[in-house]
Amino acid sequence: MIQHTVATPYMVGEVHFYSVELDSGLALFDTGPPTPEAQACLADLVDLKRLKHLFITHCHVDHYGLANFVLENSAADVYLARKDAIKFKRHTERMEAIAALLNAAGFSEEFVRQLRESFQRNKVFPTNPERYRIVEDSEELAGLGVSWLSCPGHSQSDLIYLVDDCAVTGDVLLRNIFQAPLLDIDLETFDGRFRNYDAYCESLLKLAQLRGMRILPGHREYVEGVDAAILSYVTTLLERAVHLLPLRGLPLEEMIGRLFQGRLTDPFFVYLKISEIVFMLDLIENPTRLRASLEQIGLFGKLSGLYAAVAQ
Ligand SMILES: [Zn+2]
Repeated sequence: MIQHTVATPYMVGEVHFYSVELDSGLALFDTGPPTPEAQACLADLVDLKRLKHLFITHCHVDHYGLANFVLENSAADVYLARKDAIKFKRHTERMEAIAALLNAAGFSEEFVRQLRESFQRNKVFPTNPERYRIVEDSEELAGLGVSWLSCPGHSQSDLIYLVDDCAVTGDVLLRNIFQAPLLDIDLETFDGRFRNYDAYCESLLKLAQLRGMRILPGHREYVEGVDAAILSYVTTLLERAVHLLPLRGLPLEEMIGRLFQGRLTDPFFVYLKISEIVFMLDLIENPTRLRASLEQIGLFGKLSGLYAAVAQ
């Protein structure tokens, strides 16, 4: 499995995509962002004429932004998660539902309008892939030597692909990045928000299965191991949750005002922070869920002190 690296115009910095020769032909995992530089880089590094399969870890712009370029320049099949397909099909409805969630959390119409503008300005939604297959429905994957784990939390659709001893993990396991679990409508029901916190606690159990494998993350070259990546993420989560404890009960907008003292103005960053705070408030409300998952994978001991500060 070869790691490729390309710059992105986003705060996260460089992104990785991966290629590997399967018995059935050349396969690519993620594409990089839809920039001319990334496109040239992809065309240079990957023999698109020979490409047979493209697997997408999750449809965030830095990971799938060149899917259509790949489709136009190869005969590859594109695979993505069922929930990402729902996002494409019901995009307008989803945007309205997210707006309603933000309104319900006390944010004004004006804020929502600015957020949509920011999505557009930052080209957060590239054109949808023209054709694709749904990973969860694709029984042929086993024959290709590719299996997968669904590990939602960061998004609803995060997939990890497993090939031999390699795990292509997208944004699920990262080194020193606290990837915000994004506030979104529940794509299964379109009724109420997706419970990222509950999903994350469940995904932790699956992540433990990756111990001993070669982890290939979407950013920052490598992780020091599955346990190290989980411990660092949950440590940040608990530390930030401690800071929220005295602000519980305040409207979200006021919490952000107090935490950032007016320094946070870009609506997209405000949205990321809202997402993070909602996630942490769910944790504060029901910390035993996290505890149970951490205990089950043998990592609670290292976090018990911080945990006690949150679950007071
Ligand atoms: Zn990413």
